Amino acid sequence: MVCTDNLVSYQPVTITASAAEQQSGFPVGQMDPRAVSVVETLREAGHEAYIVGGGVRDILLGAKPKDFDVATSARPNEVRKLFRRARLIGRRFPIVHVLFGRDYIEVTTFRALESKERLLHESGRILHDSSYGTLAEDALRRDFTINALYFDTAAERVIDQVGGLEDLAARRLRLIGVAETRYREDPVRMLRAVRFAVKLKFELEAETRAPIAELAPLLADIPPARLFEEIGKLLLSGHGRAMLTALREHRLFGELFPLTEEVLGSERDGVFQQFVLAALDSTDRRIANKEPVTLAFLLAALLWPPLRRYADWLVAEGMGEAAAVQRACAVIMAASNQRISIPRRLGQPIREIAQLQSRFRYRHGKRAELLLAHPRFRAAYDFLVLRTRANEVDPEVAEFWTAIQEASPEERKKMLTPRRRVRRH
Ligand code: ATP
Ligand code: MG
Repeated sequence: MVCTDNLVSYQPVTITASAAEQQSGFPVGQMDPRAVSVVETLREAGHEAYIVGGGVRDILLGAKPKDFDVATSARPNEVRKLFRRARLIGRRFPIVHVLFGRDYIEVTTFRALESKERLLHESGRILHDSSYGTLAEDALRRDFTINALYFDTAAERVIDQVGGLEDLAARRLRLIGVAETRYREDPVRMLRAVRFAVKLKFELEAETRAPIAELAPLLADIPPARLFEEIGKLLLSGHGRAMLTALREHRLFGELFPLTEEVLGSERDGVFQQFVLAALDSTDRRIANKEPVTLAFLLAALLWPPLRRYADWLVAEGMGEAAAVQRACAVIMAASNQRISIPRRLGQPIREIAQLQSRFRYRHGKRAELLLAHPRFRAAYDFLVLRTRANEVDPEVAEFWTAIQEASPEERKKMLTPRRRVRRH
């Protein structure tokens, strides 16, 4: 059998759907029919194919899967030829997207383990030497045991090589293999560990948890674009507040947002921390209510603590408020981009939300009217309200801007009329 470090004790377990159904309420009917059809096409062509990953995990947990992935023995080129609408995606490993309208099912070919030396026969002989492997090898190169469950649609059974079903029942997140090795192979797994533990409300098994704080600096080697993708998943998961808390606890947050961590870790009154948590809370609430959310707003909030601090310093040095915020925006965003590459399309809204903050103090005349009409007014106003709640600004300012939005056109005109003129008449 395949022997890798502490996995030697795992015996492959298969469980039929009806048994799984009794155990954990496996609603086979909830399998995505498109994923099932992809599996069937591959099998009819003589290949092995299974539904795997989050789709199987979430169904076993009684949750609605986000997407479905298929694992197969067919090579990417063979997969592509079997479907009319399919495309090969480069990324780190060639995979195939089988397209269904705007959706797709991701099909990956069974992979061998990353470090081939680890794929040893009990005698120490290397069993496999190509980058493609068997189901048994593919299971071992996946990240967590609960993500390595294969659903066999024909026999309606779950194939579990790594104790995933047991961990699922115990609500435990466990890396496959030796945790430190697995994190070193791909440090993003540390972020995934936090994301799954928080999202599923699973306990991080002790050996999976232990090395994270120490290995967190390995995230510095990950391309900033990949980190940005992961950050999006963490922040827009609907559990943003809990994600932030867990990321800080495991010392991962400082690797993603070093400047923000520096401020949060050093402030005595906790004002910025409250502000950031309030921003995440509000996004979590909006997601729960199925209201639209934007990543730009959250990123503006996460960058705000160092941005504001730096702007304050520039103001103390004699720079005007607006110019200071503008300069701080440029400096902090450029520094952040070294770690997480914020796409261009988000740069402008982030800057606007930050820069509009200093304009809320002008409550009269043309300036105020222009602010009200600004396309980013609403986001900037929401941001102001959060700052108020965290006691960063005088509540009176936000109250004015709340009232003016609710006012009739005549009232609005009155509110915007400069006081001097009111007094003269
Ligand atoms: P969700 O899609 O709900 O976020 P998921 O488990 O499906 O969760 P994906 O990112 O879609 O996550 O990946 C699909 C599967 O691919 C995972 O379940 C896991 O088996 C494997 N996988 C993904 N990323 C990694 C990784 N960095 N290392 C090892 N295996 C991975
Ligand atoms: Mg998935």
